[in-house]
Amino acid sequence: MAKTQEPTLAEDQQISLTLEQLQSLISEATKEQQKDSDSKFSELISALIETRKPYVDPGQELNKEVMRQSERQQQAAIDRNRKWAQDSCLHVKGLGGQEPGSASAFWIHRSDTGETIGVCSFCQRVISSLNPDDQRFFAMKGSNVPSQAGQRAFLDPIKAMTARFSEEERKKIIERLHFSAS
Ligand SMILES: [Zn+2]
Repeated sequence: MAKTQEPTLAEDQQISLTLEQLQSLISEATKEQQKDSDSKFSELISALIETRKPYVDPGQELNKEVMRQSERQQQAAIDRNRKWAQDSCLHVKGLGGQEPGSASAFWIHRSDTGETIGVCSFCQRVISSLNPDDQRFFAMKGSNVPSQAGQRAFLDPIKAMTARFSEEERKKIIERLHFSAS
C-alpha cells in the first residue's frame, strides 16, 4: 500500500498570500459570521413574537364555549317554536277567526328579481312563487294589496331569484323549472 505523501513544510517556510487572496479569505470568514448572526437574529425575532402573543386564560375559553353552547340551544328552541307556530298557523286574517275561506294573511311582494314572495302576518312564514308547495297559499283569497319592487335585468335571472334559498331548495326549484320548460 502506497502511503500518500503529505506535503511537508519546512519550519522556516513562510506562507505568502497575495492581497487578493487575503481579501477573499476575510470576506469568506465574514460571510460565515454573518450567517451565524442572521440565524441568531431570527431566533430572537421568533422569541419576541412568542412573547407578543396574548395570554389566553383556559377558564375564560371554557366560559365562552359554554356561552356559545347555550346560545345555540336558545336559537334551536326559537327555531322550533317558530316552526311549530308556522305549522299550526292557517295564515288567514282575522283575530282568532281563522275560519276556512277567510282572507289570506300573507303580505305579497314581487321582488326585483321577478320572484313573488308572501310573508304571513301571524307566523312570518315566507312563501315563494318558485316553490311548488307554496302555490296553494298564493291561490288563497287575499285582501292585501301586493307591493312591487322595480324590475332589474339579471344576466342569470334564475341564479338571482334562487340566491336566497338553501342549496337543497335551489336544486328542487331549478329541476322543476327545467322540467316545466321542456
Ligand atoms: Zn301564518
